[in-house]
Amino acid sequence: MKLSYASYSLQFKHPFGLAYGTRTTTEVVYVKLESGDFTGYGEAALPPYLNETQTSVIAFLKKVSVLLKNYKLPFSIEEIITAMDAIAPNNNAAKACIDIALHDLLGKALNKPVYTLLGLTKPQPKNTSVTISIGQLNLIPDKLKEIEEYKILKVKLGNKEDKKIIECIREHTNKALVIDVNQGWVDKYFALDMIEWLSDKNVLFIEQPLAKDKYDDMAWLSERSPITTVADESMLRFSDMDKISGCFKGINLKLMKCTGLFEAVKIINYAKQKGLNINIGCMSESSCGIAAAAQLMESADWIDLDGPLLIKNNPFTGIDFSEGKLQLNNIVGTGATLSSKELAFYEGKA
Ligand code: MG
Repeated sequence: MKLSYASYSLQFKHPFGLAYGTRTTTEVVYVKLESGDFTGYGEAALPPYLNETQTSVIAFLKKVSVLLKNYKLPFSIEEIITAMDAIAPNNNAAKACIDIALHDLLGKALNKPVYTLLGLTKPQPKNTSVTISIGQLNLIPDKLKEIEEYKILKVKLGNKEDKKIIECIREHTNKALVIDVNQGWVDKYFALDMIEWLSDKNVLFIEQPLAKDKYDDMAWLSERSPITTVADESMLRFSDMDKISGCFKGINLKLMKCTGLFEAVKIINYAKQKGLNINIGCMSESSCGIAAAAQLMESADWIDLDGPLLIKNNPFTGIDFSEGKLQLNNIVGTGATLSSKELAFYEGKA
C-alpha cells in the first residue's frame, strides 16, 4: 500500500471564537492510501489547542508508511491499527487520518459503505447543530439568518457575556440550544448557577463546563444538573471512558480525538452499556473527515457535524446538508470525493 499526504489550510467563513481565543484558519493534513486500483482518503484536523501540527502529523505518517508497505488489499484494519498505535503514543489526529483512509480504501475495494464494514445501521438524514461562536454579539442576528434552516444551535460560552449571548439569541429564536463551555466556567458553584439559569431555555446538553481534570467537581455538578452534562476535553480515547463515566452523563465523540472509526465503535458500545448519551462532534474539518464521522450517526443521540458549513475552501464533496439535516448519499467507502485540484500530494517516504 502506498501512502502520500497533502498539507492544507481550511479558511473560516467567519473568525471562529471560543474560550481559548479567536482564529481564522485551521491547519489540516490529508492522507491518500493507494492499493491496486483503489484509493482511500483521510483527514487530520489540527486545532492549535491539541498539540499536533502539520509537521508532527507528517513525521508520524512517514513512520506509518513503512508499516503499510507490508500490507495490500484485502487487509485487516484491526491488525494495522493495533500496529500503528504501537509506533508512538498520542498523535491522535494523525492516527485518525490513517484509520479513515484505511476504512475508505477497504470499503471501495469491497464495494461497501464504511458503516457496513463497522457493523452499523445505515445512517438516515439527521439534524446537526451549527455553531455560533462567542465574541460577536452584534453579529448574532445576521448569523442566525444565515443558518435559518438548521434546527439546533451550538453556542460557545465561557466568558463574561454568557447571559447576554443567550438573551440575544432568545430575542430572535426559540430553537433548541447546545451549550459548549470549553472548560470556561470557573468552579462548580458558578457552573450550577449558570446551568439552573439555562434550565428553562430549551438546552439539550452542556458540554465541558469545567476544567478537564476536575473529575470530582464534575461528578458533583452532573448529579445536580437539570441539563445533561457531556464530556469533551475530559475524554479523548477509549482508555478515558472508565474515568469519565461516573462524572458526566454523556460524551462528545470525535474521530480526531479517539484515533478514528475503529476505536469510535468501541467507545459507542461502552457508552451505550453505561447509559451515557452520545454526541458525535468534529473539529474544523472538511467533508473528508465529516463523511467518516457521519457513518456513526445512527448510534448518536445528537450530531454536531457542521465543519463543512463553517469553511469556504472545502476540497472534498460527498455529504449534503438539506433542511438542517446532514445526509450521506448512496456510497462506497466513506463517500468523500476529492473535488479540488489545489491539493499537492507528496509520497510519504520515511
Ligand atoms: Mg467542545
